[in-house]
Amino acid sequence: MAQKYIDNYKEKGARKRLVDALQKKGIQDAEVLRAIGTVPRHYFFAETFWNQAYKDIAFPIGEGQTISQPYTVAYQTELLHIRKGDKVLEIGTGSGYQTCVLLEMGATVYTIERQEKLYEKTKYVLPEKMGYKAHFFCGDGSIGIVKHAPYDKIIVTAGAPTVPDVLLKQLKIGGVLVIPVGDEESQKMVTILKVGEHDYEKIVLDTFRFVPLVGDKAW
Ligand code: SAM
Repeated sequence: MAQKYIDNYKEKGARKRLVDALQKKGIQDAEVLRAIGTVPRHYFFAETFWNQAYKDIAFPIGEGQTISQPYTVAYQTELLHIRKGDKVLEIGTGSGYQTCVLLEMGATVYTIERQEKLYEKTKYVLPEKMGYKAHFFCGDGSIGIVKHAPYDKIIVTAGAPTVPDVLLKQLKIGGVLVIPVGDEESQKMVTILKVGEHDYEKIVLDTFRFVPLVGDKAW
């Protein structure tokens, strides 16, 4: 059956309650909260599962992957300090939900997914069904997308064993990389600010559990 794209009072109410819950969990950036409160997360679910769409949980999207938990999306987005017009590289498009949150905040998004089926679906659904326009790529994002570098911000939405140097090289000076780093069980959220051509300031934050980043500079 065809997916429905209807945003009615029930979903809007559930979305508002999700935003309130994220605020209570510590998300403070008003623009991040506005974006989460705007992007219709139920569009990423089959209608039978719409009752799950505004719970603060990750959910299967096929190909063994998940749409990230809203708190995780909000947490990573807050760390990026998005400004309108920022050029952002997202590694791990998945459903495209995080992509929409970034677009909603006025970023230009280059997003790459290694699983062809997810890439094909998301690159069609986002612009055609939801009106969100990004630059979609299929391939190994652990090496970045050098052709379109440098970026103001880079976000990795899968767990990496280490920080790939190649991603740091693709950041502008003043740019920020947000990446979960750890083993298969858990990862620490790491932010790296590029302060000079070869100078970086690294902060290690909270623990999360992501699907693995699989690729040449990853698992
Ligand atoms: N942000 C996404 C969302 O909101 O739906 C969630 C993404 S899911 C947690 C992580 C994604 O990273 C998966 O779709 C996976 O296939 C993808 N991935 C893993 N390794 C990758 C790589 N080297 N390059 C690109 N995508 C990768």
